[in-house]
Amino acid sequence: MSGIKDRLNAIRATIPVGVTLLAISKYYPVEDIMEAYDAGQRDFGENKAQDLVAKQQALPADIRWHFTGHLQSNKIKYIAPFVHLIHSVDTLQLLREIDKHGAKAGRIIPCLLQIHIAREETKFGFTPEECLAMLEAGEWQQLSNVRIKGLMCMASNTDDMQVVAQEFARVKQLFDTMRDRWFAGDEGFDTISAGMSDDYQLAIAAGSTCVRIGSSIFGE
Ligand SMILES: *Cc1c(COP(=O)(O)O)cnc(C)c1O
Repeated sequence: MSGIKDRLNAIRATIPVGVTLLAISKYYPVEDIMEAYDAGQRDFGENKAQDLVAKQQALPADIRWHFTGHLQSNKIKYIAPFVHLIHSVDTLQLLREIDKHGAKAGRIIPCLLQIHIAREETKFGFTPEECLAMLEAGEWQQLSNVRIKGLMCMASNTDDMQVVAQEFARVKQLFDTMRDRWFAGDEGFDTISAGMSDDYQLAIAAGSTCVRIGSSIFGE
């Protein structure tokens, strides 16, 4: 009895309809994932391509596998055939490479642009200004084997919840600007991936549609 099912159900009870609960299973073995699966969980996220592939092969085929880590170009080919959503596109170059592998795999690969809003320099992503400039330049519209579905962010690692709330609000504002300018009428542009174990309630209040929760489900 690891308690995964109980923790999962307790978190589910706090998540409104319309918000996807993504279980981040990056540090946990297939047995733990299977326990969450048996409790009805179908969306799982990993940070490393090798782990995503190994777990995808070992686990039921109806799991939707999300990629949430820093993606190296030479790893795209392993996940391109099946990945449900890449949350962490942080350069135009990476988007181009994903597009190429999408074409090879005969797929249109759903992607989010990762936005760097946190104070830590170590985090990846476009600044809001870089993101707008990249969209304005327009090349992305020629990439027919990727589909931009929205934004992903990680807030600052701080106890100051006001800072965190401001960061989430900024991403929501950027999302709205993008929707109005480039994605008007595109119903597939519908995802804000924001919020982790410690801040997901704030993220939902700010408009997140997908929360990424690891330790609160699987344990520390
Ligand atoms: C690990 C991780 C999470 C989950 O973090 P917890 O604090 O364990 O909920 C969410 N998103 C990303 C990108 C992660 O790397």
